[in-house]
Amino acid sequence: MSNIWSEALEGLEPRLGAQTFDLWLRPIALDKVEADCLHLTAPNRFMKEWFENHYLGVVLDEIRARTERSFEVEIAIAEGEAEPRSETAQAAAPVEVVDAEDVASAEPASLTAQVRPTAFLVEPAPTKKKPVRPHEPPKLSSRYHFESFIHGSSNDLAASAAWAVAQAPGERFNPLFIYGGVGLGKTHLLHAIGHHLQEHRPELRIALQSAERFMNEFITAVRSNSFDEFRRRYREDCDVLLIDDIQFISGRDRTMDEFFHVFNALYEAGKQIVVTADRVPGDMQGMEERLTSRLNWGLVADVKAPDLETRVAILQQKAEEDAVEISGEVLLHIAGLIRSNVRELEGALVRVSTFAALKGVPITVDFATSVLGDQATAEQAAPLTIETIQKVVAAHFAIRIADLKGPRRHKGIARPRMIAMYLARELTPSSFPEIGLRFGGKDHSTVINACKRIRTLQGLEPELAANVQSLRRQLSSDLPD
Ligand code: ADP
Ligand code: MG
Repeated sequence: MSNIWSEALEGLEPRLGAQTFDLWLRPIALDKVEADCLHLTAPNRFMKEWFENHYLGVVLDEIRARTERSFEVEIAIAEGEAEPRSETAQAAAPVEVVDAEDVASAEPASLTAQVRPTAFLVEPAPTKKKPVRPHEPPKLSSRYHFESFIHGSSNDLAASAAWAVAQAPGERFNPLFIYGGVGLGKTHLLHAIGHHLQEHRPELRIALQSAERFMNEFITAVRSNSFDEFRRRYREDCDVLLIDDIQFISGRDRTMDEFFHVFNALYEAGKQIVVTADRVPGDMQGMEERLTSRLNWGLVADVKAPDLETRVAILQQKAEEDAVEISGEVLLHIAGLIRSNVRELEGALVRVSTFAALKGVPITVDFATSVLGDQATAEQAAPLTIETIQKVVAAHFAIRIADLKGPRRHKGIARPRMIAMYLARELTPSSFPEIGLRFGGKDHSTVINACKRIRTLQGLEPELAANVQSLRRQLSSDLPD
């Protein structure tokens, strides 16, 4: 009977993706099956709730489809895990002392090297109460909450990891690194974490800052002899550090060095760190290796351009928020025109609704087209086609397009072919049979298998995952003609 569980999970893995699967489904264990009830165990309360709210339904559907039976579910929490993790014991180490005089010079890099002993700053033993210093609350955008963030397959991993961090900071996914193109919700998620923690864990001291502001504050602190205060704010009086657009400090040696030490101090003390960027850590030119390797320690999650369904849901929410009267048909039309950037999508709705209000006309599809004409044609100028994907993939792996379409099974050809099929499925609206046809008349089952394979391999082979990532980026940013 316990096979039901493992088989259902196996069946779901390709659909959910290896990463989501490993994070959320694998940790849930089946203890026993009693009559029509599955008794499961989750490692902790948070995982239990997340699984119940997000994946239980699909798992039960899958089981029903396989067994033609409906089951109820009881989920227990693994023993000893019901309470939040207790503070890990820290080896006693001297608290480093920074000489403010030293830091006042304009050469923070060399100084930070001098003043920092190899032992990191550690929390004092829990018995010794730290003096409470007034803590400045983070500046959070009032619009960016979890409640207003629309989930879709394009942002599922990042959104669920952000939520996990907000539930149990410092416990899982530390650091959390969220990356993706412009206007896809990274800042929104960062602020949502801040809001949630501020509301539910008011005792935590949160620092939320763009990397640019972090750098400016650092420079000012060094110049104005207030480095102690800076250091305290980010290393000592900080339980959660949220840094936006870290790519900004690439190549800024002193700031990178300072961030490195802030990172170490907080990480060692079990504090949560969340960082966003426009690309994966390893792709940031000029970023120190020791920093990129640390940013890779936890979970790296991407946000992609949203699919049509998500775009419509985002528009719908925005229309409700702004009390704009607009039909589903027009929303669908706008969502079809603006595909790659949520900020522009929202901007498009604002433009259309403002013009309509100014002219006193109802918002129709034609009206929306007339207002968005230029913007839409710019976006639509080069819709991504399977041919383009083949061209780009062939060039990337230095093979011929004819080989992608041909029958050769050599790994050097078969892998790129599978990747191209997978990208065609992910990035164009084409069906499996259509993709098969464009790849030299292959059967749709070949395409389905290729997609499954690449999904799984991405979780197993970092090099392949990096190749797919880079192709994806190339295809979704500058669309070749
Ligand atoms: P990024 O930091 O990735 O450039 P932002 O977080 O600033 O993007 O998002 C741009 C705009 O799009 C914001 O107004 C944000 O609220 C909105 N947005 C992005 N993704 C979503 C989403 N999934 N649901 C709702 N709003 C979103
Ligand atoms: Mg941003």
